[in-house]
Amino acid sequence: MVRLRDMAAHSTSKKQADARRYTDELRESELRFQNLADTAPMYIAMADSTGSATYFNKPWLEFTGKSLKEMRGLGWLSVLHPEDAPVFEKDFKHAFAQRISISEQYRFRRADGQYRWMQAVGAPRFTPSGEFIGYFGTYNDFHDLKEAQLAHKRSEERYKLLFNSINQGFCVIEVLFDADGKASDYRFLQVNKVFNKQTGLKNVLGKTMRQLAPHHEERWFEVYGNVALTGESISFEDEAKALGRVFEVYAFPFGAPNERMVAILFSDITERKKLEAQREMERRMQLLTDQHNALLKVNKTKDEFIGLASHQLRTPATAVKQYIGLLLQQFAGPLNDKQMQYLQIAYDSNERELGIINDLLKTAQLDASAHTLFKQPYNLVALVNECLSDMQSTFSLRNQEAVIQSAKDTIMAPVDMIEMKLVFINLLENASKYSHPDSVIKLDVLQKGKRVYVSITDEGVGISEENRGRIFEKFTRIDNELSDTVTGTGLGLYWVKQIVGMHNGTVKLISKPGEGSTFTVALPVANSERHTNV
Ligand code: ADP
Repeated sequence: MVRLRDMAAHSTSKKQADARRYTDELRESELRFQNLADTAPMYIAMADSTGSATYFNKPWLEFTGKSLKEMRGLGWLSVLHPEDAPVFEKDFKHAFAQRISISEQYRFRRADGQYRWMQAVGAPRFTPSGEFIGYFGTYNDFHDLKEAQLAHKRSEERYKLLFNSINQGFCVIEVLFDADGKASDYRFLQVNKVFNKQTGLKNVLGKTMRQLAPHHEERWFEVYGNVALTGESISFEDEAKALGRVFEVYAFPFGAPNERMVAILFSDITERKKLEAQREMERRMQLLTDQHNALLKVNKTKDEFIGLASHQLRTPATAVKQYIGLLLQQFAGPLNDKQMQYLQIAYDSNERELGIINDLLKTAQLDASAHTLFKQPYNLVALVNECLSDMQSTFSLRNQEAVIQSAKDTIMAPVDMIEMKLVFINLLENASKYSHPDSVIKLDVLQKGKRVYVSITDEGVGISEENRGRIFEKFTRIDNELSDTVTGTGLGLYWVKQIVGMHNGTVKLISKPGEGSTFTVALPVANSERHTNV
């Protein structure tokens, strides 16, 4: 019994010793854990099987500035960011019910009042026998990293917003170089929403420009290659014929230099350019019109002056003619041969002067639209013959022969007989003036349909091609080998053309320098139009 009692006593004291040892070991292990937890570079907390917080390590308490007592239970909720509280509750409830780990990010208030992002990782705890005894949580302050991430995200969002909200086209390209280091193509890496509208190109991402537009001009590749290589941005305007558009472009380097990326901000300015070109044309047209009007004004003033001057000159010149005529007829007494000869020279010069004055006056009248025609049906064959006989003395002086050819004796045309005679005399005079002596001047009168054609052909000096259009202009005299020996004002053909035009006719010229010229006047024959005075 004693032994049994002793044994029993021995066994009890052993149990007590074991229990003490176990408690000591547990306390020591807890102390070791606390020591470890308090010096760990992270925040540690524990919750029991009801979810109520039981433990926060020293760094946690220092971080929050709260005591363990304040933090225990649900006290720690006071340092959780109000916006994160519902999220945390939801996450935790879910994990707690499932007894699973949890890894989330929440903001906790530091002792100085600043909320800081923590990466929280919670793991369920179980006894060796599998009994759930709560959660063990670690918290890492990664606030600075998170802020940087958020800032980056915000900037990305801002970039995307800007990228897609601008009305200009935007794209990022990677310039592709060939083996010789020459920019040969570029690939589209990013494009904004209006890219398609601005370029007309669709589904470009990942594709190269040569794939999309094989005939895109070489210089575009060069320009972007240069931006990628030198890192220098560039602004320019250029036409992309392959796209049928003109662009205003700002291209600048993008990303790291070795990535050879270029960002391009551009606008399709085709319409603007067209408008500008149109405006420029309108401006020039306006300038030309203004200049034309100014010239017309000057011309009008000049015409008025010519009209006035010739009118004023004609009266005294006519008086000179009359008085010299009287002297030549010896009304003022007899003259000796010398006096007669000198007076004759004066008379001839005065005649020429009057001729010039009359030409000027006629031209001035034409320009002022003050010239009136008196048209009557007249036989043009007869009229041409009359002109020939009037000109006979002139032809004789130069020993020239004039021949007329006409299939008919009568071809009636409504003409102002006096004016039309002057037209043919002018042409015959020119044919004689600009032909050498001993040449032949031919006159052909021919009716074809409702028109009569009068051609005057000479064997004279002819007119070069570049001067053929000019000779009908006012005051245009063309130098030729005979022009020094003959007089003229450069008004004859101008006047001829105007008068023929007033008869609804035309004047045509065929000429070969050195061989001669043919002037052909075409006029409507009678009864093909009403005879009116113009
Ligand atoms: P003008 O005879 O007074 O110079 P015109 O108006 O009659 O003026 O002729 C203009 C120019 O045309 C002349 O200066 C002359 O050079 C050229 N021309 C006119 N008729 C002939 C012709 N039959 N042959 C060669 N040249 C001519």
